[in-house]
Amino acid sequence: MAIPAIKLENVSFSYPVSEGEEHKAVDCVSLEIEEGTFVALVGHNGSGKSTLAKLLNGLLIPTGGRVLVYGVDTDDEKRIFDVRSSVGMVFQNPDNQMIATNVEDDIAFGPENLGVPREEIISRVDWALEKVGMSEFRHATPFKMSGGQKQRLAIAGVLAIKPRVMVLDESTAMLDPKGRDEVMKVVRQLNREEKMTVVHITHYMDEALEADRLIVMNDGRIVLDGKPADVFAEHELLTRIKLGVPCVTQLAVTLHEAGMAVDPRITDEEALVDSLCKLL
Ligand code: ADP
Ligand code: MG
Repeated sequence: MAIPAIKLENVSFSYPVSEGEEHKAVDCVSLEIEEGTFVALVGHNGSGKSTLAKLLNGLLIPTGGRVLVYGVDTDDEKRIFDVRSSVGMVFQNPDNQMIATNVEDDIAFGPENLGVPREEIISRVDWALEKVGMSEFRHATPFKMSGGQKQRLAIAGVLAIKPRVMVLDESTAMLDPKGRDEVMKVVRQLNREEKMTVVHITHYMDEALEADRLIVMNDGRIVLDGKPADVFAEHELLTRIKLGVPCVTQLAVTLHEAGMAVDPRITDEEALVDSLCKLL
């Protein structure tokens, strides 16, 4: 079998909080992510999602266990360059990710730092802009753009490094619905067309529904992991850990609880419409 893109073996991470005390943010997590998978990661605030994300590209090194990126231990200082260029990260706030005052320079920043030759940088900038649908913005000024455009630019900047895995840490959280749609469309396309492995951290359950695999964290641990429809069927557990389900599932659950013959496990709108039509 092919080597997994990401492998976590009993990974823990503790932040030092005060003298002699620490806070365990990730608690003994084991996980394998196959190349090309679109994974969504959800969990309420403080459940350890961002800490886990930073462990994936060596921004944090586990305090217990190990993280392997295409078989390379993130704790191996000699290989940290490989790890960082394999796993790109897009963060929450689009305004904190702009580096240059012009789109082209902003995207070129990553590969320039990696010492990529000039010609190659130019073609990567072209390619990255095309992938995020922003070719006409090549000479634009980032700070004048919409939130969705800025996040697409941040994704282009990461793409120019040619990572094999893209981690998005609540990158849609600060966007309006239009911006969210723009970003999700780009992420979906990268996964489908470029076979890029995606780890998408979000608090929008409707976005999580689009993934191949949904991982739910609570208190530093993975509590659910499976196909989104199967995970959302665990309605009671999700409610207990203060997470919602997608709108369509919530509607199905409410109708079911009101005594109607509707399957509470429904996750797509057409299926809900079908079962409502049958009742009429
Ligand atoms: P999430 O992204 O799911 O909201 P985080 O990974 O940011 O969760 O945080 C997990 C836990 O670790 C929380 O209890 C948080 O308060 C704590 N934490 C996060 N960053 C730090 C830090 N730099 N120092 C101490 N504790 C932290
Ligand atoms: Mg977070």
